[in-house]
Amino acid sequence: MSWRETASLRHVDTLVVGGGQSALATAYFLRRWQVSYAVLDDQDAAGGAWQRAWPSLQLFSPAQWSSLPGWPMRGGEQHYPSRDEVVTYLREYEARYSVPVERPVRVTAVVAEPDGLRVQTDRGHWLARTVISATGSWRSPYLPSYPGQTSFRGRQMHSADYAGAQALQGLRVLVVGGGNSGAQIYAEVSRVNEATWVTLSPPSYLPDDVDGRVLFERATARWQAAQRGLPDPYPDNGLGHIVMVPPVRAARGRGVLHSVRPFVRFVDDGVIWEDGTHSPVDVVIWCTGFRPSLAHLTSLPIAQADGRIRLAGTRSVDEPRLWLVGYGEWTGYASATLIGVMRSARATAQEVVAYLDAPAAATT
Ligand code: FAD
Repeated sequence: MSWRETASLRHVDTLVVGGGQSALATAYFLRRWQVSYAVLDDQDAAGGAWQRAWPSLQLFSPAQWSSLPGWPMRGGEQHYPSRDEVVTYLREYEARYSVPVERPVRVTAVVAEPDGLRVQTDRGHWLARTVISATGSWRSPYLPSYPGQTSFRGRQMHSADYAGAQALQGLRVLVVGGGNSGAQIYAEVSRVNEATWVTLSPPSYLPDDVDGRVLFERATARWQAAQRGLPDPYPDNGLGHIVMVPPVRAARGRGVLHSVRPFVRFVDDGVIWEDGTHSPVDVVIWCTGFRPSLAHLTSLPIAQADGRIRLAGTRSVDEPRLWLVGYGEWTGYASATLIGVMRSARATAQEVVAYLDAPAAATT
């Protein structure tokens, strides 16, 4: 580090990277336990990935089951919040608990130093005794590859870029992906377009009277079983099933809620199916998920071949001053959901406090 960098270095006990729901849930506990911390988020406003979701997105759990620690979202047990309601809730939550978020600040690298982790950003450097990464995944959409894909002249977009069906009116659309986003986007697009839904296997639907609550109950059952050393009661993770939200039910009512198995390749104006037939296609919407956004951690020599970091709970095994929160099953059951992140956030803050309070010799 040059003397200039050293002189401008800002010091803090804990730096949280990312400013979405995972960061806020963690901040709630850091604040409660009086940790000196700051949060760096690269967005212009509060709300994390929810700001990027398509406008008509409705949560699959009622407000009471979509809340961060300490302060329930308005709406109770019967109301399924919209995207905009979640963004408002996160903005108000941030203000209510005076979360010290600096934005827009993009973290570009985290570097191990003897006396802490140096966090490099586009607005100067920090030296943090501990770092909690909560960068989510929306920056890293996953797109599968198919033969001929580059010769396809139509438009390809990820669900991360889907902004509603109106813009696609009159076009022939393929929606690819058998999860909740695939089902919801197909349900919406099929109202105004000639649309085909492509899934690897037949979709599995939850009963109509079951909503996202059951998914969290399953996540809790899995966590409890793991605590007691019992077998996983839901080895398929229980979170892959489609919730019958109103637009999906409506698509079933119109008789269009069915999917086909994947095509084998692209051609310039469409796709070729397994039986050799051809379908013209204007737009492909890939609802094929996301990968954790971890580019800022590749500067640490701890990433494995698949880009993941070895964890014990949420803590890095190889860099004990680093924790990861909110990246889904990998970092805690249901931890990529509003209510599900609480358990990981609390455990992480507890470990951070223990680390910061421990005598220096015991902390490395
Ligand atoms: P994010 O919200 O992505 O926040 C991370 C923040 O960190 C972002 O602001 C990002 O820009 C920023 N960032 C990233 N990299 C950097 C960097 N290098 N430097 C600084 N900042 C950085 N959950 C539910 O509970 N209920 C639901 O009904 C539900 N429905 C969903 C439907 C869909 C279609 C999707 C995709 C998700 C849904 N989820 C739902 C899941 C969940 O709410 C999101 O995955 C959630 O946004 C994850 O929160 P996060 O804080 O971990 O990440």
